[in-house]
Amino acid sequence: MKALQYRSVGAAPEVVTVPDPEPGPGQVLLKVTAAGVCHSDIAVMSWPAEALPFPLPLTLGHEGAGTVAALGDGVTGVSVGDSVAVYGPWGCGVCAKCAQGRENYCLRAKQLGIAAPGLGAPGAIAEYLLVDDARHLVPLGDLDPVRTVPLTDAGLTPYHAIKQSLPKLVPGSTAVVIGAGGLGHVAIQLLRAMTAARVVALDVSEEKLALAREVGAHEVVRSDANAAARIRELTGGLGAEAVFDFVGAGPTAATAGAAVAVEGDVTIVGLGGGSLPVGFGTVPYDAAVRAPYWGSRGELIEVLDLARAGAVEVHVETYSLDEAPAAYERLHAGKVNGRAVILPNG
Ligand code: NAD
Ligand code: ZN
Ligand code: ZN
Repeated sequence: MKALQYRSVGAAPEVVTVPDPEPGPGQVLLKVTAAGVCHSDIAVMSWPAEALPFPLPLTLGHEGAGTVAALGDGVTGVSVGDSVAVYGPWGCGVCAKCAQGRENYCLRAKQLGIAAPGLGAPGAIAEYLLVDDARHLVPLGDLDPVRTVPLTDAGLTPYHAIKQSLPKLVPGSTAVVIGAGGLGHVAIQLLRAMTAARVVALDVSEEKLALAREVGAHEVVRSDANAAARIRELTGGLGAEAVFDFVGAGPTAATAGAAVAVEGDVTIVGLGGGSLPVGFGTVPYDAAVRAPYWGSRGELIEVLDLARAGAVEVHVETYSLDEAPAAYERLHAGKVNGRAVILPNG
């Protein structure tokens, strides 16, 4: 089969032919209908060899959807032909975190050598994808896999982040989304669907700010050195109850810290390498700062139910498998509006 692989450190990913995977006991083989392209892959491909946590070559793609093509021995709960989305942050399934469905924080994944598809295990930007266990599949039913597949990461990750801050996002509050890209444009819609907060979106691109408005941001602000002051102005000097940073660079983390309210939350989701020093006087009183990873199995089911209710619509650009390297180039250049989705089987 054809697959998009990251093959050598620092090089662009390539479409190659690899052996067709076959499901072993307990595994499920999917014929991939759609696979999303995440900026995290670009971060991973910029890391030096010593920082890479997995060996190369690696088939990319950690947002996957497909139809069940074959079942390994002993698999129950799914049938050949089912349309499913893949829960990506695979864990052991039995530790205390996994028992709560929070496999993104599995206590034993590292020790057992368990990795997410596209982030260590062979990923979804291929004609077929091997899934380690049926519990990592969520039925899509009538949902369109192409428009839904980004919700497995670009939806689930902001959903998990926003859920932690829900108690603070009461009517009259303000939520800030920094970076209105793949994750950010979904985050804006989730905030509108889940809270009564006023949503302020920041980006460096006019096109992304236009998308932010289109998907429900009440205010848009250019992300520059004056952005925090502008947010304070918009909030009567008080700042925002929650700031979600989907860039995570030094300047955006600084904006987040300067824009957050007393007792507010800063959530750094982006892998931009920045950080926010926390200490008395460096952030407003009692502000909390966290850096979460992906989301839980239960949360993915909730996000898909929100999509089913019509509350979130991902803006997608589609590409063939042969065009996948170009999709990464466009994402790297900041030219993807919404999410790029690869259709490996046309
Ligand atoms: P994306 O490229 O689709 O979106 C990034 C957006 O940020 C773009 O709209 C871009 O114009 C904007 N931007 C760039 N610099 C900016 C700045 N200084 N201020 C404001 N906006 C700026 O990327 P994505 O796929 O949505 O991913 C966003 C980030 O989240 C990436 O760093 C990615 O690695 C990370 N991520 C983290 C997790 C996690 O679990 N923590 C999961 C998925 C993605
Ligand atoms: Zn991702
Ligand atoms: Zn576990």
